[in-house]
Amino acid sequence: MMQSEIKPIIEVKGVSKFFGEKTALDNINLSIKKGEFVTILGPSGCGKTTLLRLIAGFQTASEGVIRIAGEEITQTPPHKRPVNTVFQKYALFPHLNVYDNIAFGLKLKKKPKDTVLKKVKAALKMVGMTDYEYRDVNSLSGGQQQRVAIARAIVNEPEVLLLDEPLAALDLKMRKDMQMELKEMHKTLGITFVYVTHDQEEALTLSDTIVVMSEGRIQQIGTPTDIYNEPINSFVADFIGESNILNGVMVKDKLVHFCDRDFECVDEGFGENTPVDVVIRPEDLYIFPVSDMAQLRGTVQSCIFKGVHYEMVVLCHGYEFVVQDYHAFKAGTEVGMLVKPFDIHIMKKERICNTFEGKLIDET
Ligand code: ATP
Repeated sequence: MMQSEIKPIIEVKGVSKFFGEKTALDNINLSIKKGEFVTILGPSGCGKTTLLRLIAGFQTASEGVIRIAGEEITQTPPHKRPVNTVFQKYALFPHLNVYDNIAFGLKLKKKPKDTVLKKVKAALKMVGMTDYEYRDVNSLSGGQQQRVAIARAIVNEPEVLLLDEPLAALDLKMRKDMQMELKEMHKTLGITFVYVTHDQEEALTLSDTIVVMSEGRIQQIGTPTDIYNEPINSFVADFIGESNILNGVMVKDKLVHFCDRDFECVDEGFGENTPVDVVIRPEDLYIFPVSDMAQLRGTVQSCIFKGVHYEMVVLCHGYEFVVQDYHAFKAGTEVGMLVKPFDIHIMKKERICNTFEGKLIDET
């Protein structure tokens, strides 16, 4: 089946959520295909958890419609939706062992004992915790507890697994390991994952599709490469790649003025004298001892070793440029910088978009 023919499992249409005066979600339109790994990404307070809670049924939309598997469920209680949620805090029952935690929902539904046993064992195997069934959950590490929480969520074989920052409480090494395991689990289970995080790297690593949100609105929907390489506005560019964002003015097509000089670029169609945001990623700036070759000149303010590369802040034309390079330039060094035309990204100022099925509708 072609990708475009795959039916959406989740449809969110014109959904808003108000808490008194506060608009937590503003006209959200989103379509998630069956089997996709979709990540809702955005800074704290942007509304990502609220959106997940509306899909889960823990909260009700103020406006709009939500459908799961073609059925309208806007008012349906959580336990009647074909979804299950994994939270940041593992939310296990401390007085039950691993087996009973996972079996809890199945026992409530009065499933036969041998079915429960079979399903719990399969879920434990899926999360790499075979042989842990009789352990006290309090004796497990954070990562192991989160695995049990995932096993509990998948044991009912939901159509959709909702995950709200499930790795946020783990240390970096455990988080990286669990990311890979989650990706594997998604492949094996073949169900839809909707994952909430504020961690850009996590979103880029895990997702088929990323939904970037800010202040209750969707900014962009796309694949990780789309979002990284073709951010729709400077918010997305900055949030995904910690970009340098500079004020510029288009001189003409493929020529932009910023930092007191003209730069060749590849963008066109903005119109002469249009004020624009010029976005340059830290890794796209070449830095070297100052010379006549330099397009930009500045002074290094700080230099930090980041593991593989160095990250330097260079004061230049009143901007603090962030630059990444394999070579270190000490604070106080006069440096030159170069950027290639295709690494200069031009963005219309304050472009706000609304989206449905990945189409971008310009509202400005
Ligand atoms: P975080 O990453 O910090 O969890 P988030 O992106 O998940 O943030 P939400 O928790 O969805 O954001 O909150 C969105 C906005 O709605 C915030 O301004 C929050 O304060 C507000 N909000 C959320 N729940 C409620 C509530 N029950 N009552 C009032 N305001 C709320």
